[in-house]
Amino acid sequence: MKKLRELFYQWAFLDINHTGSYKKTFFGIFEDDNCMTNQEMVSRLSMLLSCVSTGVLLYTVGNNPSSTQFIFHLAALIIFLAFLYMSEMMVFRYSPVLGNTATIVYICFLYAITIADRFFNFGLPDVLFYIVMALTPVAFVLPPVLFFVLSLIWAAVYMFGIAGQLSGQALHEELLAIGMVLAISTLMGWHIGRTRAAQAFANQKSRTLTETLQQTSLTDQLTGLFNHRSFQSDYYSLFHDCQSKKHRFSVIMIDIDKFKLFNDYYGHLEGDRCLSEIGHAIGEYTDEGIVAYRFGGEEFVLLLSGTAASRTLAIAENLRQKVMNLKITHEYSPVASVVTVSVGVHLGVPPAHEKPMDFFDHADQAMYVSKRSGGNRVSVYTEPGQEANTDDED
Ligand code: GH3
Ligand code: MG
Ligand code: MG
Repeated sequence: MKKLRELFYQWAFLDINHTGSYKKTFFGIFEDDNCMTNQEMVSRLSMLLSCVSTGVLLYTVGNNPSSTQFIFHLAALIIFLAFLYMSEMMVFRYSPVLGNTATIVYICFLYAITIADRFFNFGLPDVLFYIVMALTPVAFVLPPVLFFVLSLIWAAVYMFGIAGQLSGQALHEELLAIGMVLAISTLMGWHIGRTRAAQAFANQKSRTLTETLQQTSLTDQLTGLFNHRSFQSDYYSLFHDCQSKKHRFSVIMIDIDKFKLFNDYYGHLEGDRCLSEIGHAIGEYTDEGIVAYRFGGEEFVLLLSGTAASRTLAIAENLRQKVMNLKITHEYSPVASVVTVSVGVHLGVPPAHEKPMDFFDHADQAMYVSKRSGGNRVSVYTEPGQEANTDDED
């Protein structure tokens, strides 16, 4: 029973909010990548609808060559084509919502003239009425329950229009025909609604999966930082960007001191925990223009674009202290009684001729200077025979 109620609810209101996280606009169009598919469907079907109705109109013009009817049909034809053009143009070039409004107005217009025909007898064939009614659920992007009610209202108006003109038997036949058209259109609407919901649901699922895959392929699980693959794809573009715009670019290289000893004495699992803690601490420096990576093993990199030299150096020093303050015991380290890091910094506006990896290697060299000096310190790369370039303005 509950299942039935749910099914009805989904059918009646196209309530795919229950099956996935979608937004639904007033006209039941999903505001996601699926949107265009629905728009295309609406547009194609309204084209079909107008072709059929135009054909029927032309046919009647041929059969009723009186001048008033001819003018009426010509006007109708022009309006049909104008609406068709508007809905196509708006759906594809401007606003999908406007495009759908145009389609809806267009179908209402079709309804209006078929109904008006019942009262004023323009000479339209009955088949046009049925075509319009049967195609409504296909062309309308409304929840099925709404178009069903709409069709029902039009059918009632239609019956009211012809009730006086038909005898008992003919009236029964007409009622039967209308009932069948309603049933068919409702089934069509149901089928389309379900297909759309299923399609939107599948799209949402595959999008979530793609996002998860992208996320896992670019991040390091242990530390939550971007991985080496991300580094490879980011480094060159950041470097070239700063090089061409003459912006300051900085590389901070971080390597854990005597980590092999840590692993040897405390075990690999403890080593992983230590890496995770340090990685998360480094991740906290992520900011606008600052990205943190696990470069590999026990090495980390911070890339900073457009950051002032003083801030870069402050971050490097702060980071060194922060790792020490995590107080992860490392009693076998010759550097300190807790886990420490050696940091190397290279900063400056990349010269026009500089190769990306040469710039990076300088940070690595600076890091080894820190190691050779006993570890747990920050060193800034200096060009041979020059002082470190740590001025903010250049
Ligand atoms: P140095 O101060 O010169 O940097 O010495 P080190 O021992 O830190 O450097 P070395 O390159 O000799 O050793 C790095 C160690 O890092 C070796 C390896 O076992 C460990 N390591 C690398 N990746 C992982 C990891 O994912 N988990 C754990 N537990 N250890 C790792
Ligand atoms: Mg290392
Ligand atoms: Mg190391």
